[in-house]
Amino acid sequence: MYMCVQVCPTGIDIRDGLQVGCIQCAACIDACNEVMDKVGYPRGLIRYTTERQLAEKEPSRVLRPRLFAYLTLLAVLCGGVIYALTDRVPLEIDIRRDRNQLSSINNQGMIENSYIVKLTNKTQDAHTYTITLAPQEGLSLELRFNDVPLEAGESFDMPVSIYGDPDVIEFGQTPVTLNVSSENGKYKVSKQNIFTTQGQ
Ligand code: SF4
Repeated sequence: MYMCVQVCPTGIDIRDGLQVGCIQCAACIDACNEVMDKVGYPRGLIRYTTERQLAEKEPSRVLRPRLFAYLTLLAVLCGGVIYALTDRVPLEIDIRRDRNQLSSINNQGMIENSYIVKLTNKTQDAHTYTITLAPQEGLSLELRFNDVPLEAGESFDMPVSIYGDPDVIEFGQTPVTLNVSSENGKYKVSKQNIFTTQGQ
């Protein structure tokens, strides 16, 4: 059986009160309780407590309003993390415009905007993806490949062009949306960009 001063790894005599060198290992508490058991005195001479509890000499209440507030906050945070994890789509799309030319006119008189669509398959399996343009009057999509097969974790940059009928679309900038879907329809993402009639 050892006394509190003998078991303290930092050499503190806790009988002089709480000291800055204490690492909260609680070795002195166990040693003290053993001594108190041996001499027949109540345990807890050295213990974790609060100044308020010492002053009021009443046991502290466990079920306090603050506890419920913390539990509610924790539940909201856990719910947010679970929602973020389950709602995550393991497919990424990024659209970059052709920086050299905002738009051009092709030999059929249609306004052409060029983009690079980067697809990233973030699943653990291979999938084949298709890119479509959200239906919009006067706009059509031209792809180099209809299907984009990607291995797990693979990315691919695909050049795409959107054509606008100058008799139908408005002058200026028109928002366009590209949709990407896996072959089984399980994974879908959409991304918006701008179709412009300027810069020809
Ligand atoms: S809690 Fe650990 S470090 Fe602090 S006084 Fe007790 S035995 Fe020493």
